[in-house]
Amino acid sequence: MRNTTSKGILERLQEGIVQGAEGYVFELERRGYIKAGPYVPEVVHREKLKDVGRENDLERMNRQAVQLANEVAREGDALVAGNICNTWAYDPNNAMETSRVVRAMYEEQLTWAVEEGIDFVISETNDYLGEAMIALEVIKQLGLPAMVTLASVQPHTTRDGYDYVEACQRLADAGADIVGLNCDRGPETMLPLIEKIRSTVSCYVAAQPVPFKTDALHLTFESLRTSDGQQAFPLALEPFLYNRFEMAEFARRARSIGVNYIGICCGGAPHYVRAMAEALGKTVPASKYSPAMELHPMLGAHVEDKDQRFIADWKSQ
Ligand SMILES: [Zn+2]
Repeated sequence: MRNTTSKGILERLQEGIVQGAEGYVFELERRGYIKAGPYVPEVVHREKLKDVGRENDLERMNRQAVQLANEVAREGDALVAGNICNTWAYDPNNAMETSRVVRAMYEEQLTWAVEEGIDFVISETNDYLGEAMIALEVIKQLGLPAMVTLASVQPHTTRDGYDYVEACQRLADAGADIVGLNCDRGPETMLPLIEKIRSTVSCYVAAQPVPFKTDALHLTFESLRTSDGQQAFPLALEPFLYNRFEMAEFARRARSIGVNYIGICCGGAPHYVRAMAEALGKTVPASKYSPAMELHPMLGAHVEDKDQRFIADWKSQ
């Protein structure tokens, strides 16, 4: 366990909203550190690491990821979650055999994470309730608080056919401390589902949408199309991005319907997380560099009258 004197996830949730910050894979790809396509394997899956010739680096990468996260978390009294996710190995039609494979992967990853020090575990982007249940069992065996969130690629059900709301209820009944949804949907199409989950389960609820403009015709960011009809996911999504004010508004809406853990998934970036935190009344280390537009030489309030004409011209261009 992490040697921390700060409060754990459950104590923090009891006191108020906890904020999550995910989506680092998109950010790493944008910065040129990882390859789009194989994606997540850079830190997680042995099988998929083979695709990029790094299967022998699995343990070292997992341990180092937790070490780095702990280093950063200490700067701002943040918690570190061990993370497990959909493995692509689970098959409900061959559940007995594939469950063993999935369980072994989760046990291996979380054993390393626990040894390096984590505060709780997030099992996320679960396509199958069956796979999420395996994750939950492994987390509970380790005696850690469990947050389990589902992907919501399909309109109403998980890939093994459970209504999202019912699936969350089953996870809660099985002992998950926090349930909800992450990834795939932007705030507009995630919040209606989250509202139903909130009114059904009595445990804590999490919402971690992607910061993209999904709508009634495009429930997920995978279904968004560019102006010439091409699939925008995952490399041409920029025209659909929310701005920081819109993500801040999402955070306020989530709070108003009773969401306890409010975060962001693929496409997330630090400026969103800061804007969301501040919308929730928090001051975070990054608030040091929050915008101060009144100091801007052209847009600010302290410009002399003679400059105003120039600014008016500039703005109207
Ligand atoms: Zn995501």
